[in-house]
Amino acid sequence: MGTLLDVNDLSISFGGIKAVQNLNFHIDTGEVLALIGPNGSGKSTTVNMIAGIYIPDKGIIKYDGHVIPNKMDIANRAKLGIARTFQTPRPFANLTVYDNIYTIALLHNKYTEAKEITNDILKLTKLDNLRNTNSGKLSIEKRKWLDLARTMATRPKLIMMDEVMAGLNPAEMEASLDLIRAINKEGITVLFIEHVMKAVVSVCTRAIVLNQGKLLCEGEPREVLNNPDVVAAYLGG
Ligand code: ADP
Ligand code: MG
Repeated sequence: MGTLLDVNDLSISFGGIKAVQNLNFHIDTGEVLALIGPNGSGKSTTVNMIAGIYIPDKGIIKYDGHVIPNKMDIANRAKLGIARTFQTPRPFANLTVYDNIYTIALLHNKYTEAKEITNDILKLTKLDNLRNTNSGKLSIEKRKWLDLARTMATRPKLIMMDEVMAGLNPAEMEASLDLIRAINKEGITVLFIEHVMKAVVSVCTRAIVLNQGKLLCEGEPREVLNNPDVVAAYLGG
């Protein structure tokens, strides 16, 4: 299948804080890769550099075989198929679920296809029965699903999910994991940032661990979680 994203020597500092240092990793096409690590280890910053929100001080990001120029903005990266969700989703609160997805679909697809794409996404994300609900009235879980649905409407190849399980109860988490599997089945590659290790083990084939902005280790999720260095990092060692 090959490599979809290849990150080389990626670094960024904020004032004196080396948020990400000389980071190397890759994501295979079609995989669900976990990006884990303690609070403040640089996970969201990494996603922000890939998405085009932060400009790295150093390093190269290759996507689909091409180097992405540092100055390429979020919108143009989205056109290439790079998408992300947010830790705190913010749908257009005054629009219905349908219109929230349709608005994004219109921006990223042919006008004649936007309606069908929206309906397909409503089915995939099991939001069909809520299509006419005002998005401001949704539960946290459903708001997260709507965020994923809106992300899907950009027709991404890569979705970076930043702590989508936060705040969900076990049943909601199971349902959300099913949704992530369904999204992955559509051929979408996933970078899965998560603190809930049960979720990581259940949905990811490989995991990479950051600690203080550096890559600590990588491998099969269960192995990685039992690695003494990783355990120590989570304990603040
Ligand atoms: P994580 O997502 O792993 O919890 P972050 O990537 O959010 O960690 O943060 C990594 C480090 O970079 C932290 O020390 C954080 O305070 C710092 N940082 C992130 N973004 C900024 C910013 N915009 N300005 C200053 N410091 C930042
Ligand atoms: Mg974060």
